[in-house]
Amino acid sequence: MQIARRIPELKSFVDNAIKNNKTIGLVPTMGALHEGHLSLITRARKENDIVVVSVFVNPTQFNNPEDLKTYPRTEHADCKLLERAGVDMAFIPTAEEIYPEPDNRIFDLGDVATVMEGAMRPGHFNGVAQIVSKLFEWARPTRAYFGEKDFQQIAVIRRMARISGFENIDIVACPIVREADGLALSSRNVRLTPENRAIAPEIHRALKDSLNMTSELTVDQLIESVTKRINSFDCLEVEYFSIVDPLSMQPVKAWTDVPNPVGCITVYCGDVRLIDNICYRS
Ligand code: AMP
Repeated sequence: MQIARRIPELKSFVDNAIKNNKTIGLVPTMGALHEGHLSLITRARKENDIVVVSVFVNPTQFNNPEDLKTYPRTEHADCKLLERAGVDMAFIPTAEEIYPEPDNRIFDLGDVATVMEGAMRPGHFNGVAQIVSKLFEWARPTRAYFGEKDFQQIAVIRRMARISGFENIDIVACPIVREADGLALSSRNVRLTPENRAIAPEIHRALKDSLNMTSELTVDQLIESVTKRINSFDCLEVEYFSIVDPLSMQPVKAWTDVPNPVGCITVYCGDVRLIDNICYRS
């Protein structure tokens, strides 16, 4: 595996691959890698000649400085894992390399970016669009892989790709990988106290149990029921729970409004912000 810390190294590696008619799979990550990331890498490995993984804690997508400061960084372990996964190139730049000057671009991400994470984390999706558009430009992937854990992010990236001339890149959505007890894998899970880690699976449990309630409860009643159940645990506090159209990300009013509405939730578990989602299949 090659490690590139500078943009020109990445670009010349990619130039060479493209000259040789190789397909390129890109997996953007912020490191502190786990099985969720690995599932994206494994899929990229199967579907492409060359796999590029970026490891970069992107400051412009953090609206909370404390979150940026405490975000786990485990480069040594990450490199070992990437090597074992058969990755061809790890791109691990510094913030100075990516942003020698401030990136002042504002993306018109439309309605998909104004609700939920977009409403709670001002500037977050614009920061995501900034870094992913740069990575698309330099890595020129055939396919790029993203996890459905960040369900809204995928819609935002599809929109960014459409408006920024990357419509030829295949955006591949990969299913959520969970711990045996149902907790969605997340780099932030290491920040949970043992007590809170034991309660955190209640989030997925409440979502899963709610799948059977769509015949008895309206959308609003179900939202209330799930929120109450999760909030009944001392260390859990729901920030939002919205049931949305999986294309537009706009809230649905009735189960029949759109096929396969998705319930997107954010919960504080102590001071750790966890996100998850579930599909109410029609
Ligand atoms: P991050 O390093 O958290 O920015 O995540 C990098 C990519 O991995 C994003 O596309 C995430 O959606 C994806 N990802 C993170 N956690 C999981 C998970 N538990 N299952 C599937 N994909 C995930």
